[in-house]
Amino acid sequence: MGAPGVGKGTQAKLLTEKLELPHISSGDLFRTNHREGTPLGLEIQRYMIEGLLVPENITISIVMEAVLSTRAKRGFILDGFPRTITQAEALDKALAEQKQSVNCTLNIEVPTDQLIKRLAGRLLCSTCQATYNTETQPPLRDKLCDLCNDPLYQRDDDSTAAVETRFQVYSNDSRPLLEYYGSQGKLINVDGTGTLIEVHQDLLRAIQSC
Ligand code: AMP
Repeated sequence: MGAPGVGKGTQAKLLTEKLELPHISSGDLFRTNHREGTPLGLEIQRYMIEGLLVPENITISIVMEAVLSTRAKRGFILDGFPRTITQAEALDKALAEQKQSVNCTLNIEVPTDQLIKRLAGRLLCSTCQATYNTETQPPLRDKLCDLCNDPLYQRDDDSTAAVETRFQVYSNDSRPLLEYYGSQGKLINVDGTGTLIEVHQDLLRAIQSC
């Protein structure tokens, strides 16, 4: 968990590779539908472009479908979900039916002024979704992915207006989750201002302590 731009997606990918766990990202699920022009993609595009949350019923059903179809005995890493108390409660209920539960919630913390700079420079690969940053992590070749050589793009919701909305939504709807998981003793805060590898190692240590 964490505010927009803290590195949830990048760090979740590194963790899933290291721990060999499936990665379920609500944002990636939505972006795939949007890119492929599916009916769901068309329905959610307005919310995504404006930086608003996709309605609860749509989000919960698409993520729960991914969670239940993963059937990973060793678990999985959720990225970008839950973002509201309603989603957290739906997740707890679905996991309880599978005799599973959330072990640990990692919250990455970065000051807002740094996040705004990060989001302005963020680029994504149109094929593999690898992330880059023009300032802090530029691709080797201009606007091309190091891994698949395909073009990089800026997310629609990284525009200035959408970023403002996303911070507001985060503060109103997602921040209360810190208390939700904190009061259950399942929240670990991790400093997200270090290098990619430093933050990754801190997250790994945090998971091992869960
Ligand atoms: P992300 O890649 O996690 O930043 O998500 C990108 C966008 O997808 C968000 O700004 C929302 O519009 C939508 N989205 C992702 N996850 C959720 C969620 N859990 N609940 C509602 N909307 C979401």
